[in-house]
Amino acid sequence: MARKPIMAGNWKMNMNHVDAVGLVQKLAFTLQDKGYDPEASECVVIPPFTGIRTVQTLIEGDRLPIVHGAQDVSEHDDGAYTGDISADMLAKLGCTYVIVGHSERRQYHGETDELVNAKAVKALSKGLTPIICVGESLEVRKAGQHVEFTVAQVRGALAGIPAGQVAGLVIAYEPVWAIGTGEVATPEDAQEVCGAIRRAVTELYDEATGQSVRIQYGGSVKPGSVTAIMAKPDIDGALVGGASLKPDDFAAIVRFY
Ligand code: PEP
Repeated sequence: MARKPIMAGNWKMNMNHVDAVGLVQKLAFTLQDKGYDPEASECVVIPPFTGIRTVQTLIEGDRLPIVHGAQDVSEHDDGAYTGDISADMLAKLGCTYVIVGHSERRQYHGETDELVNAKAVKALSKGLTPIICVGESLEVRKAGQHVEFTVAQVRGALAGIPAGQVAGLVIAYEPVWAIGTGEVATPEDAQEVCGAIRRAVTELYDEATGQSVRIQYGGSVKPGSVTAIMAKPDIDGALVGGASLKPDDFAAIVRFY
């Protein structure tokens, strides 16, 4: 089964809701200018929570070939969880995707594999597609444990999620040492782990699920590095931080084909 490439821009804590308008408009204009075909790759923008409503209104109002998502979601339905945002709230804002388990959440907010799993389950229950982030630190890579470590994170994140749902979700392999550092993994490094993730999903479920799940690479992806990464057989897209704030760069990444 052909997997549609997915290019997702994680804006992190950048762009207030006013700045978001300019960024999405410029992105849409540049995509059009480059002859972007939404059938050939998916273009996803992931603003901070405060920008989601504005971005939704712009995308829907102008019928832009862009979908949007959120950077995190609560594992709870509703209630006394100050500062949290529920999956239901995100679904009402037209979000298609939600990132769970980004390494910055794991690092600064102590998110564990169990919590990432609970968030993914909650997102799926409200019709959102989780982008589940996994990936090793430099220490783990230097110890040669990067494949085992990352596959263990995948197993933890998918615990109890049925094959039918796993087939539709997205896993982002993001080696922590490559995020925001300018240190992009080689295409071979990225393929090694993305291939192992697909084999693990196939072993946990079945061939069809393994072939269907989309796996992104993330970590300092730029227009100049995307083509070689996308040429690898088990890489179906990119999760992009810094370059997604530059409309020309992100449009070039989306239009990699
Ligand atoms: C990210 O935050 O998911 C990311 C990959 O960031 P950057 O592209 O800036 O390394």
